[in-house]
Amino acid sequence: MQSMKRPEYDLIVIGGGPAGTSSAITAARAGAGVLLLERGRLPRQRVCGEFVSAESLALLAGLLGRTAADLQQRAVQIPEARLFVDGRVISASLDPAAASITRFDLDADLWQAAEDSGVETRLQTAVESVAGGGPFQVSTSVGDFGSQAVICAAGRWSNLSHKSDFTNGQSGERWLGVKAHFAEQSPPSSVDLYFFEGGYCGVQPVRLTGGDRREGRINACAMVRPDIARSLPEVFAQNPRLAERSQSWEPRMEPVSTSPLIFHEPQPIQDGMLLAGDAAGFVDPFVGDGISLALRSGAAAAECLTPFFRREISLQEATLRYGRVYESRLLPVFRNSSKLRRLLRLPRPLRSSIMQLLATVPAITRYLVSTTR
Ligand SMILES: Cc1cc2nc3c(=O)[nH]c(=O)nc-3n(C[C@H](O)[C@H](O)[C@H](O)COP(=O)(O)OP(=O)(O)OC[C@H]3O[C@@H](n4cnc5c(N)ncnc54)[C@H](O)[C@@H]3O)c2cc1C
Repeated sequence: MQSMKRPEYDLIVIGGGPAGTSSAITAARAGAGVLLLERGRLPRQRVCGEFVSAESLALLAGLLGRTAADLQQRAVQIPEARLFVDGRVISASLDPAAASITRFDLDADLWQAAEDSGVETRLQTAVESVAGGGPFQVSTSVGDFGSQAVICAAGRWSNLSHKSDFTNGQSGERWLGVKAHFAEQSPPSSVDLYFFEGGYCGVQPVRLTGGDRREGRINACAMVRPDIARSLPEVFAQNPRLAERSQSWEPRMEPVSTSPLIFHEPQPIQDGMLLAGDAAGFVDPFVGDGISLALRSGAAAAECLTPFFRREISLQEATLRYGRVYESRLLPVFRNSSKLRRLLRLPRPLRSSIMQLLATVPAITRYLVSTTR
């Protein structure tokens, strides 16, 4: 039998998105020796509405450390959400305001903060497999590494996901995600969600580092069934208000897309590894909580492992603690967002009556928005 390599690291984190960097920064600041592995390069565009809910802004600022002020200066405040459904517009104020932050900047700044915190980082290093239930041997495109614990934050659909979990998806539906930035004159400072049969498109203002501050720029990001639309122009045609608004837009980047988007029951532990962010569970993007959940679950996973690194508890106890924390603090967001998703799937006459109620009683809309937080 091949002998297991002696662990060089306390923790290996797989994936350099918000969940992975949050885990790595939190663990390193608590004194752990951390290796962070990312298969891609940074900075890079990512399919995302780029809406960061207010609840996680303090955590984000804490994680970013010295670069927090720069990023917050580039963020656009989003104090209002508008839902365009069945010819109606339902508005809800967001108090405190959310932020619009491009993933191009966010992911690169979090990566920098991980390096500033003493994390050893490697880009263009794809994890191929993970062996052992603790200690672990992590095999990558550039060699093997050993660690006492592993946090997998490799996103919702990676070579490390258990594919069988996806076949039991809640709806069995597979969706496509597509995004691009456009120039628009004086965009409103709201997140605007345009719904249609088989999908929706979110539109909000964004500001890119080094971008022309005088030019209005928006991010349009859609989640759509591939039989309904496969490109942004096809998406825009699905909602009359969006079709009208998008007529004046000029593209500012090549569109990026991702598929399949599949929903399944959240699962925070797999083969002794702690799963964080989308790797644990993918929340419906229209609630705008994926980044927040990624930051929070990543930090929680690292916090649960800290007493293990200090030899106060076993790895098994640390993973059990994380499972309990995940269930009490993060699972409710999934439950409430799937209730909202069901509401949008109701037959049109029933949905219209509910939408009318929401439009006339803003307190209910605010309540619905807050229950997903
Ligand atoms: C259409 C759409 C719109 C969205 N809009 C919003 C929004 O407005 N607001 C919001 O909060 N959330 C939104 N989300 C969700 C949000 O993008 C995710 O929840 C968030 O990116 C999760 O972060 P993460 O770190 O878990 O995963 P990711 O950001 O996916 O990062 C995972 C990383 O792991 C790397 N990786 C994968 N496999 C390996 C491997 N084998 N080895 C090494 N590295 C690996 C990947 O390259 C990637 O960088 C949206 C999602 C979609 C699809």
